[in-house]
Amino acid sequence: MGMTEIFNSALRDSVLRSWIEVAEGSDFPVQNIPFGIFTTPGGKPRAATRIGDTVIDLHALAISGFLDGLEFDHDLFSCTTLNSFIALGKPAWRSMRERLMLIFDERNPALRDSPEKRVEILFPIAAVQMLMPVQVGDYTDFYSSIEHATNVGIMFRDPANALLPNWRHIPVGYHGRSSSVVVSGTNIHRPKGQTKADDAEFPEFGPSKQVDFELEMAFITGKKTALGQSVSTQDAEDHIFGMVMFNDLSARDIQKWEYVPLGPFLAKNFGSVISPWVVTLDALEPFRVSGPKQEPAVLPYLRFEGDHNFDIHLDVFIQPENLKEQQVCHSNYKYMYWNLAQQLAHQTVNGCNINVGDLYGSGTISGPTPDSFGSMLEIAWKGTKPVKMPDGTERKFINDNDTIIFRGYGVKDTLRIGFGEVVTKILPAKS
Ligand code: CA
Repeated sequence: MGMTEIFNSALRDSVLRSWIEVAEGSDFPVQNIPFGIFTTPGGKPRAATRIGDTVIDLHALAISGFLDGLEFDHDLFSCTTLNSFIALGKPAWRSMRERLMLIFDERNPALRDSPEKRVEILFPIAAVQMLMPVQVGDYTDFYSSIEHATNVGIMFRDPANALLPNWRHIPVGYHGRSSSVVVSGTNIHRPKGQTKADDAEFPEFGPSKQVDFELEMAFITGKKTALGQSVSTQDAEDHIFGMVMFNDLSARDIQKWEYVPLGPFLAKNFGSVISPWVVTLDALEPFRVSGPKQEPAVLPYLRFEGDHNFDIHLDVFIQPENLKEQQVCHSNYKYMYWNLAQQLAHQTVNGCNINVGDLYGSGTISGPTPDSFGSMLEIAWKGTKPVKMPDGTERKFINDNDTIIFRGYGVKDTLRIGFGEVVTKILPAKS
């Protein structure tokens, strides 16, 4: 039996294991094969995948001949972003992922038994710096969690009519700003801006007192369309390269004063943080589940077949400076009312074109119970239910020097595939 046959049978039996060590509970078994961009001290940015805590240099792998036969230009993997690779399309992503699984299959000696090549190709995660994986062209943020939209409606409008009349008919969204989308590990200064207290006659200017996280996931498109073209729910996933976790930082006090009538602006564009590894939809296949029932029935262009939700656990922690982290939320991507296929169909239904590397945030993902709410606004319920930290202090929102940590993963039987972390520290406002 040749390596390809062994590989195919191993995939079928889902017993594929790597010769690279993968610790129990790791998000990165050989079945994951996420894509990212990394650098090493004195090195240049290049493309990578990850197994366990080992980062695999795809450019070095290509130069050593391990990608021969795939007909990829080696330069694709020495770029500062994944955009050129992503632009090759789904068959290329798929053949690359399968080749990488084959190279690192525990039964394949080619690289396993070549110590001098391993030194050139493999790096411990602790020895590298992860960079932005893609150049984000356009960034859209949806508002697709019914629990989140309901909670916000109850708090700020009318508990009896928490959802606005359009909400069950339209995947509500807005065009965000891509220049301030940054990779995990980037620290963000508390933003300054205009706020107005309810009892004040005039607004004031100063540091936001209500910096918050928004627990989101985002998909990245990998296939462009022409202006005037629409993408159906049926074809949507062919246009999606993969997913990341996404912390869409928000300043609630700035948001409250500025958002009428045109929506979010400076409250939302001072830093939006993504996880460094893009996990492909192929890797997420084992976690595919059906979504909530949509009532009333949606318009024909939003109808879909099959399952387009994913069972991905999402945990949020706050770590005050020099203290242990404290979990404040556990939610799940499967709660999404509007799925990613509907979001992309809606984004393009008017002929709006999409590009490789565009980012589409899910909107804050809240679950049905208070411990699954995806923002401090909801967890502390507008400041009325503060959260206790390990040192006895309380949080209604995020304090200076608090670090916000997201973790996300799917589990099916013995298989765990995850996204790693999104880590962001909130620094004091710049003077
Ligand atoms: Ca958001």
